[in-house]
Amino acid sequence: MDIFERRESEVRGYCRLYPAVFDKAENALQFDEDGNRYIDFFAGAGVLNFGHNPPAMKEALIDYLSANGVAHSLDMSTTAKRTFLSAFENIILTPRSLDYKVQFTGPTGTNSVEAALKLARKVTGRRQVVAFTHAYHGMTLGALAVTGNAKFRNAAGVPLDGVIRLPFDGYAGAGDTSLHALREALADSSSGMEPPAAFIVETVQAEGGVNVASGEWLRAVQALAREHDSLFIVDDIQVGCGRTGTYFSFEDMGLDPDLVCMAKGIGGFGLAMAVLLIKPEYDQWSPGEHTGTFRGQNLAFVAGARALDYFRDDKLLREVRDKGGRMHERLAAIMKEHGRGRWTVRGRGMIQSLDTGDGQVAAAVLRRAFERGLLIGTCGTDGRVLKVMPPLTIEDGVLDEGLDILRAALAGEAADA
Ligand code: PMP
Repeated sequence: MDIFERRESEVRGYCRLYPAVFDKAENALQFDEDGNRYIDFFAGAGVLNFGHNPPAMKEALIDYLSANGVAHSLDMSTTAKRTFLSAFENIILTPRSLDYKVQFTGPTGTNSVEAALKLARKVTGRRQVVAFTHAYHGMTLGALAVTGNAKFRNAAGVPLDGVIRLPFDGYAGAGDTSLHALREALADSSSGMEPPAAFIVETVQAEGGVNVASGEWLRAVQALAREHDSLFIVDDIQVGCGRTGTYFSFEDMGLDPDLVCMAKGIGGFGLAMAVLLIKPEYDQWSPGEHTGTFRGQNLAFVAGARALDYFRDDKLLREVRDKGGRMHERLAAIMKEHGRGRWTVRGRGMIQSLDTGDGQVAAAVLRRAFERGLLIGTCGTDGRVLKVMPPLTIEDGVLDEGLDILRAALAGEAADA
């Protein structure tokens, strides 16, 4: 029995899917300790948008460390934080005419969501938050309460309340009729429904099955929030930072979120950082009211600032749109070839997916793909959806090679079915 099995908690998950001991990685490739090569179509679920060990970030980190840069500083001001904030303002916010205050929360996505929910409740003095079917917002209690998946929820051990659950766009054929019903109820003083503190939504539900919301539906959610002075929160933790072909996933959609949750890719190198973007009028925290030891790690600031260089022009985002289009076409062709009308393809930009409709089929495809040197994740109900999410910087040839492996794995599964 190896040390992982002997000593590490039963809670471990991904290592069971990918039984290898990884050692080295470069851009979209990962190598195990025996030198086997894997193409990474998982990219740390959106952390590794710029690939493994991107040279410019690595160099900046080495330089910072060599110069004895401050590694940890709670929420004190540092030169590294100044550089990051200035880059975020100059490259991301100002060109988009966005005015957000930046709150550095604890370093994982769920910390950002907790801060968002807490702030929305504080600002409005209300308790309920509207969340959607298949939502995934994190594992700490507040974020878990707005998450949909029963397996995760059942592990909470305490009631997960304070949430109104509505169908996401297209859920079970539902459109904005459920929003309409909520609107009616909120206008009716005898409905028993009180106005919520916030609506929290993902524009693409990545963990929930790569469910893509339409601009129209998202605007309707925002409009309902505005009508009742509820805050409109976009959780851009997995599909922000360029994944959909724009920096924020909600750009060019007529959306103007009050709070934006970000994490994963924002640290650039795979270093943990999470932020909550707050419209200035809602930045109603008193000093130190929401705190944490690891709010903004300087190494993440150093790499994260370098990562923002990718967004100084449209080059990377154009590539994301092109490669995303190619991924979609290839998946649609595979679906047509092998899906017997049972599979569907969904996605935006470089988060694409093939829904097999069956968790066992998707798990078998994942295993076959792994055996052939491809790391791919599953998501959605029972893990029935294969999520294709390579680093945005993946080389064309490697992308094609990975899609070929996926095609072979799916063809094998279709033949066995
Ligand atoms: N929100 C979304 C949309 C996510 O995809 C995730 C992580 N999968 C989280 C929140 C939670 O982030 P973390 O795991 O870093 O706490």
